[in-house]
This record gives sequence, structure tokens and C-alpha cells, in this order.
Amino acid sequence: MTYVITESCIGTKDASCTEVCPVDCIHPTPDEDGYDQADQLYIDPEECIDCDACAESCPVDAIFSEDQVPDDLQSYIQKNAAHYA
Ligand code: SF4
Ligand code: SF4
Repeated sequence: MTYVITESCIGTKDASCTEVCPVDCIHPTPDEDGYDQADQLYIDPEECIDCDACAESCPVDAIFSEDQVPDDLQSYIQKNAAHYA
């Protein structure tokens, strides 16, 4: 299981989630290459430990556990994973 960042991040992208993730699996962070160009941030599904901290921190409720991603946002599961492929 992993957590997934979805559409609401686009246009907000405030990086709050990167500050609370205990395993630093959300990228790009503001100090990494590609941050300014990124539409949104992405969670590495291989590294996420399902702690829920990011979801709690997100001001626009963009983050869901993989098994709770709404039907119309399912494509974001692959979109997050593809960032790390
Ligand atoms: S659920 Fe926890 S480990 Fe997974 S991305 Fe969010 S903060 Fe990081
Ligand atoms: S906290 Fe939410 S809006 Fe901010 S970068 Fe993370 S997912 Fe995007």
C-alpha cells in the first residue's frame, strides 16, 4: 500500500507534506531540481510507509491512501508511481 497525491495539489503545491514525511518519499522537494517545473508533487510507492502524516498536513486534501482514492482520481496512482519509474 502507498499514499497517493491527486489533482488538488496542482495549483497549490505548497510542500507542506514534504516537511512531515518521516521517510522523505515525497518529491520533488523545494530544494531539488524540477520543483519549479513540477505541476504537483509525487509519493514514491516503494518507500511510503502509510503513516498518514502527509494527508493530515495537506491544506487541500489532495492525498489519499491508495485504497481510498476516489474513482475519478484513480489515474493519479499510476501518475505518482511513474515519477519514480
Ligand atoms: S503516508 Fe507517511 S510515509 Fe507515506 S508519503 Fe505520506 S508522510 Fe510519507
Ligand atoms: S501538502 Fe498537499 S498541496 Fe501541498 S504539496 Fe503536498 S500534496 Fe501538494
